[in-house]
Amino acid sequence: MGPGLAIKAVMQRRFSLLVFGWSQVVIDLQPLIAMTTGRGELHGFSHTLLGATLIGLLCGLSGKHLAEWGLRLLREPRHMPVRWRVAFGSAFIGTYSHVLVDSIMHVDVLPFYPFNPANPLHALISIDALHVVCLATAAAGGLAWYAVDRAIRHKGSEAE
Ligand SMILES: [Zn+2]
Repeated sequence: MGPGLAIKAVMQRRFSLLVFGWSQVVIDLQPLIAMTTGRGELHGFSHTLLGATLIGLLCGLSGKHLAEWGLRLLREPRHMPVRWRVAFGSAFIGTYSHVLVDSIMHVDVLPFYPFNPANPLHALISIDALHVVCLATAAAGGLAWYAVDRAIRHKGSEAE
């Protein structure tokens, strides 16, 4: 979610953090099921670029209305409606970045399967460095998003 916050700070209304988060949940359903049942591959097809493309499509399709429902629940109607382009873009950014980060962390993630049966991204940077990147983008992104959001609100209230 850290990089997601940073992307939100830069892209603002062109990016939906709710759809992004939704894609993170859906893509990790396979590992979750594998872990709880002890059956099947841990990461498997969901954590390949092909799988991420399919899951991205699915999350874009389902994410628009889910995110709008979430925004209503959060009482943030000013971010409505979530445009289809934003829903799909956020879902794809979510699933592709997830596979990228998981490829670096886990040797059993095969991003280019079935074209390349190896994981050339594994340990590209150390796990510690990866955690630092996620925490740093979360902190910087969260702060920047808050600051820009406040500035926009302030401008809006000035104009009224
Ligand atoms: Zn994962």
